[in-house]
Amino acid sequence: MSAPLVPGRPSHDDVLLANAYAVELEREYGHLQGRALLDVMIGEVLHGDIALVSSFGTEAAVLLALVAEVDPATPVLFLDTGMHFSETLRYRDALTEQLGLTDVRTFDPSALDAGAHDPDGRLWARNPNLCCYLRKVLPLERALGGFGSWITGRKQYQGASREALPAIEASSGRIKVNPLVTWTPVDIAGEYERRGLPLHPLVAAGYNSIGCAPCTRPIATGEEPRAGRWSGSNKSECGIHVGGDDVAAGPAAAE
Ligand code: SF4
Repeated sequence: MSAPLVPGRPSHDDVLLANAYAVELEREYGHLQGRALLDVMIGEVLHGDIALVSSFGTEAAVLLALVAEVDPATPVLFLDTGMHFSETLRYRDALTEQLGLTDVRTFDPSALDAGAHDPDGRLWARNPNLCCYLRKVLPLERALGGFGSWITGRKQYQGASREALPAIEASSGRIKVNPLVTWTPVDIAGEYERRGLPLHPLVAAGYNSIGCAPCTRPIATGEEPRAGRWSGSNKSECGIHVGGDDVAAGPAAAE
Protein backbone atom coordinates (compact mmCIF):
# COMPACT_ATOMS: atom_id res chain seq x y z
CA MET A 1 0.00 0.00 0.00
CA SER A 2 1.33 3.43 -0.90
CA ALA A 3 2.18 5.96 1.79
CA PRO A 4 -0.23 8.88 2.04
CA LEU A 5 0.85 11.87 -0.02
CA VAL A 6 -1.23 14.64 1.54
CA PRO A 7 0.42 16.37 4.51
CA GLY A 8 -1.52 18.04 7.29
CA ARG A 9 -3.04 21.25 5.95
CA PRO A 10 -3.29 24.43 8.01
CA SER A 11 -6.78 25.34 9.02
CA HIS A 12 -8.58 28.12 7.17
CA ASP A 13 -8.37 30.26 10.31
CA ASP A 14 -4.59 29.72 10.58
CA VAL A 15 -4.14 30.82 6.99
CA LEU A 16 -6.25 33.95 7.46
CA LEU A 17 -4.46 34.84 10.69
CA ALA A 18 -1.01 34.39 9.14
CA ASN A 19 -2.00 36.43 6.10
CA ALA A 20 -3.27 39.29 8.26
CA TYR A 21 -0.22 39.15 10.55
CA ALA A 22 2.15 39.19 7.56
CA VAL A 23 0.49 42.32 6.20
CA GLU A 24 0.89 43.98 9.59
CA LEU A 25 4.55 42.94 9.92
CA GLU A 26 5.37 44.02 6.38
CA ARG A 27 3.81 47.41 7.02
CA GLU A 28 5.83 47.88 10.21
CA TYR A 29 9.13 46.21 9.39
CA GLY A 30 9.18 45.70 5.62
CA HIS A 31 11.54 48.64 5.18
CA LEU A 32 14.24 46.77 7.13
CA GLN A 33 16.74 44.47 5.42
CA GLY A 34 19.48 42.01 6.33
CA ARG A 35 20.81 42.13 9.87
CA ALA A 36 18.36 44.84 10.96
CA LEU A 37 15.35 42.76 9.96
CA LEU A 38 16.83 39.62 11.52
CA ASP A 39 17.50 41.45 14.79
CA VAL A 40 13.83 42.34 15.06
CA MET A 41 12.40 39.04 13.84
CA ILE A 42 14.70 36.61 15.69
CA GLY A 43 15.36 38.79 18.72
CA GLU A 44 11.90 40.23 19.34
CA VAL A 45 8.80 39.76 17.25
CA LEU A 46 9.10 36.06 16.36
CA HIS A 47 11.53 35.07 19.10
CA GLY A 48 11.63 31.32 19.73
CA ASP A 49 9.18 30.63 16.90
CA ILE A 50 11.42 31.06 13.85
CA ALA A 51 13.93 28.90 11.95
CA LEU A 52 16.17 29.48 8.96
CA VAL A 53 15.69 27.07 6.07
CA SER A 54 18.96 26.84 4.15
CA SER A 55 20.05 24.86 1.11
CA PHE A 56 23.71 25.63 1.84
CA GLY A 57 23.92 26.71 -1.78
CA THR A 58 25.99 29.31 -3.58
CA GLU A 59 24.71 32.38 -1.71
CA ALA A 60 23.68 30.76 1.57
CA ALA A 61 26.72 31.70 3.63
CA VAL A 62 25.75 35.37 3.85
CA LEU A 63 22.37 34.72 5.46
CA LEU A 64 23.83 31.98 7.67
CA ALA A 65 26.51 34.41 8.86
CA LEU A 66 23.96 37.13 9.60
CA VAL A 67 21.75 34.71 11.54
CA ALA A 68 24.77 33.40 13.45
CA GLU A 69 25.60 36.98 14.43
CA VAL A 70 22.12 37.59 15.78
CA ASP A 71 21.90 34.24 17.60
CA PRO A 72 24.03 31.19 16.74
CA ALA A 73 21.45 28.95 18.44
CA THR A 74 18.80 29.85 15.87
CA PRO A 75 17.48 26.57 14.41
CA VAL A 76 18.76 26.01 10.86
CA LEU A 77 16.81 23.44 8.84
CA PHE A 78 18.49 21.59 5.97
CA LEU A 79 16.56 19.21 3.74
CA ASP A 80 18.80 16.33 2.72
CA THR A 81 16.96 15.06 -0.34
CA GLY A 82 19.40 12.19 -0.77
CA MET A 83 20.29 13.70 -4.15
CA HIS A 84 22.65 16.50 -3.12
CA PHE A 85 26.17 16.92 -4.44
CA SER A 86 28.64 15.60 -1.88
CA GLU A 87 30.26 19.06 -2.07
CA THR A 88 27.08 20.60 -0.63
CA LEU A 89 27.08 18.26 2.37
CA ARG A 90 30.72 19.00 3.10
CA TYR A 91 30.07 22.73 2.66
CA ARG A 92 27.19 22.50 5.17
CA ASP A 93 29.47 20.93 7.75
CA ALA A 94 32.33 23.37 7.17
CA LEU A 95 30.09 26.46 7.35
CA THR A 96 28.33 25.19 10.46
CA GLU A 97 31.66 24.93 12.22
CA GLN A 98 33.11 28.18 10.89
CA LEU A 99 30.05 30.25 11.81
CA GLY A 100 29.53 28.58 15.19
CA LEU A 101 25.96 27.56 14.45
CA THR A 102 24.80 25.29 17.24
CA ASP A 103 21.43 24.00 16.03
CA VAL A 104 21.68 22.84 12.40
CA ARG A 105 19.08 20.13 11.83
CA THR A 106 19.04 17.80 8.81
CA PHE A 107 15.80 16.25 7.57
CA ASP A 108 15.64 13.26 5.23
CA PRO A 109 12.68 12.18 3.10
CA SER A 110 10.58 9.56 4.78
CA ALA A 111 11.83 6.07 3.94
CA LEU A 112 8.19 5.09 3.54
CA ASP A 113 7.56 7.76 0.89
CA ALA A 114 10.77 7.05 -0.98
CA GLY A 115 10.28 3.28 -0.89
CA ALA A 116 6.70 3.47 -2.06
CA HIS A 117 6.97 6.16 -4.73
CA ASP A 118 10.61 6.27 -5.77
CA PRO A 119 11.99 2.74 -5.38
CA ASP A 120 14.70 3.14 -8.02
CA GLY A 121 15.72 6.70 -7.06
CA ARG A 122 14.91 8.01 -10.56
CA LEU A 123 11.58 9.67 -9.90
CA TRP A 124 13.31 12.99 -10.69
CA ALA A 125 13.46 11.88 -14.36
CA ARG A 126 9.86 10.63 -14.57
CA ASN A 127 8.00 13.11 -12.39
CA PRO A 128 10.18 15.87 -10.90
CA ASN A 129 7.22 17.60 -9.25
CA LEU A 130 6.35 14.46 -7.31
CA CYS A 131 10.03 13.90 -6.54
CA CYS A 132 10.35 17.43 -5.08
CA TYR A 133 7.15 16.88 -3.16
CA LEU A 134 8.47 13.69 -1.55
CA ARG A 135 12.01 14.87 -1.00
CA LYS A 136 11.45 18.55 -0.17
CA VAL A 137 7.87 19.68 0.43
CA LEU A 138 6.83 16.91 2.82
CA PRO A 139 10.11 16.90 4.79
CA LEU A 140 9.92 20.70 5.11
CA GLU A 141 6.40 20.47 6.44
CA ARG A 142 7.65 18.04 9.07
CA ALA A 143 10.72 20.17 9.80
CA LEU A 144 8.62 23.30 10.29
CA GLY A 145 6.16 21.48 12.51
CA GLY A 146 7.19 23.34 15.64
CA PHE A 147 7.59 26.78 14.07
CA GLY A 148 5.15 29.50 13.12
CA SER A 149 7.64 31.32 10.92
CA TRP A 150 10.75 30.78 8.83
CA ILE A 151 13.54 32.69 7.12
CA THR A 152 14.48 32.21 3.48
CA GLY A 153 17.31 33.51 1.30
CA ARG A 154 15.17 34.31 -1.75
CA LYS A 155 15.90 37.50 -3.66
CA GLN A 156 14.02 39.58 -6.22
CA TYR A 157 16.82 39.43 -8.78
CA GLN A 158 16.59 35.63 -9.03
CA GLY A 159 14.01 35.58 -11.83
CA ALA A 160 10.58 36.68 -12.95
CA SER A 161 8.75 34.58 -10.37
CA ARG A 162 10.57 36.41 -7.56
CA GLU A 163 10.52 40.00 -8.87
CA ALA A 164 7.71 41.15 -6.57
CA LEU A 165 8.84 39.27 -3.47
CA PRO A 166 8.27 41.26 -0.24
CA ALA A 167 10.46 41.17 2.88
CA ILE A 168 7.67 39.53 4.88
CA GLU A 169 4.88 37.33 3.54
CA ALA A 170 2.58 34.53 4.61
CA SER A 171 2.69 30.97 3.33
CA SER A 172 0.30 28.19 4.25
CA GLY A 173 -0.42 29.56 7.69
CA ARG A 174 3.14 30.59 8.53
CA ILE A 175 5.10 33.86 8.36
CA LYS A 176 7.99 33.86 5.90
CA VAL A 177 10.82 36.39 6.27
CA ASN A 178 13.12 37.24 3.35
CA PRO A 179 15.90 39.45 4.78
CA LEU A 180 17.95 39.64 1.55
CA VAL A 181 15.04 40.27 -0.77
CA THR A 182 16.49 43.36 -2.48
CA TRP A 183 20.13 42.28 -2.40
CA THR A 184 21.88 41.99 -5.75
CA PRO A 185 24.66 39.62 -6.81
CA VAL A 186 27.09 42.51 -6.26
CA ASP A 187 25.83 42.98 -2.69
CA ILE A 188 26.18 39.27 -2.02
CA ALA A 189 29.67 39.04 -3.51
CA GLY A 190 30.75 42.07 -1.49
CA GLU A 191 29.52 40.48 1.72
CA TYR A 192 31.37 37.23 0.98
CA GLU A 193 34.54 39.23 0.51
CA ARG A 194 34.04 41.53 3.49
CA ARG A 195 33.41 38.58 5.81
CA GLY A 196 35.93 36.20 4.24
CA LEU A 197 33.22 33.59 3.68
CA PRO A 198 34.14 30.44 1.73
CA LEU A 199 32.41 29.90 -1.62
CA HIS A 200 30.47 26.73 -2.36
CA PRO A 201 33.06 24.43 -4.00
CA LEU A 202 31.00 24.13 -7.21
CA VAL A 203 30.98 27.88 -7.92
CA ALA A 204 34.39 27.50 -9.53
CA ALA A 205 32.87 24.94 -11.92
CA GLY A 206 30.24 27.41 -13.17
CA TYR A 207 27.32 26.50 -10.92
CA ASN A 208 25.29 29.55 -9.92
CA SER A 209 22.23 28.10 -8.16
CA ILE A 210 22.68 24.64 -6.68
CA GLY A 211 20.05 22.07 -5.82
CA CYS A 212 20.03 18.32 -6.30
CA ALA A 213 22.73 16.85 -8.54
CA PRO A 214 20.42 15.30 -11.18
CA CYS A 215 18.51 18.58 -11.64
CA THR A 216 21.33 21.14 -11.62
CA ARG A 217 23.84 22.17 -14.31
CA PRO A 218 26.38 24.96 -14.59
CA ILE A 219 25.19 28.09 -16.43
CA ALA A 220 26.76 30.03 -19.28
CA THR A 221 27.48 33.76 -19.26
CA GLY A 222 24.28 35.75 -19.80
CA GLU A 223 21.90 33.01 -18.66
CA GLU A 224 19.37 33.68 -15.87
CA PRO A 225 20.78 32.93 -12.41
CA ARG A 226 18.53 29.88 -11.98
CA ALA A 227 18.74 28.64 -15.58
CA GLY A 228 20.73 25.63 -14.42
CA ARG A 229 17.86 24.32 -12.29
CA TRP A 230 15.60 21.73 -13.99
CA SER A 231 17.14 22.84 -17.26
CA GLY A 232 15.16 21.87 -20.34
CA SER A 233 11.85 21.70 -18.50
CA ASN A 234 9.35 24.40 -17.56
CA LYS A 235 9.86 23.69 -13.86
CA SER A 236 11.49 26.59 -12.00
CA GLU A 237 10.62 26.05 -8.31
CA CYS A 238 10.75 22.96 -6.14
CA GLY A 239 7.42 23.66 -4.51
CA ILE A 240 8.48 24.66 -1.00
CA HIS A 241 7.82 28.29 -1.87
CA VAL A 242 4.50 27.72 -3.58
CA GLY A 243 1.19 27.37 -1.84
CA GLY A 244 -2.33 27.90 -3.06
CA ASP A 245 -3.24 29.94 -0.02
CA ASP A 246 -0.07 32.02 0.11
CA VAL A 247 -0.27 35.77 0.21
CA ALA A 248 2.40 38.31 -0.51
CA ALA A 249 2.08 40.95 2.15
CA GLY A 250 3.20 43.70 -0.18
CA PRO A 251 1.36 46.89 -1.01
CA ALA A 252 -1.32 45.19 -3.08
CA ALA A 253 -2.14 42.71 -0.37
CA ALA A 254 -2.20 45.44 2.23
CA GLU A 255 -4.86 47.40 0.41
S1 SF4 B 1 15.44 18.82 -7.35
FE1 SF4 B 1 15.34 16.94 -8.64
S2 SF4 B 1 16.22 15.26 -7.42
FE2 SF4 B 1 15.82 17.01 -6.05
S3 SF4 B 1 13.86 16.56 -5.15
FE3 SF4 B 1 13.45 17.86 -6.94
S4 SF4 B 1 13.18 16.50 -8.74
FE4 SF4 B 1 14.02 15.29 -7.01
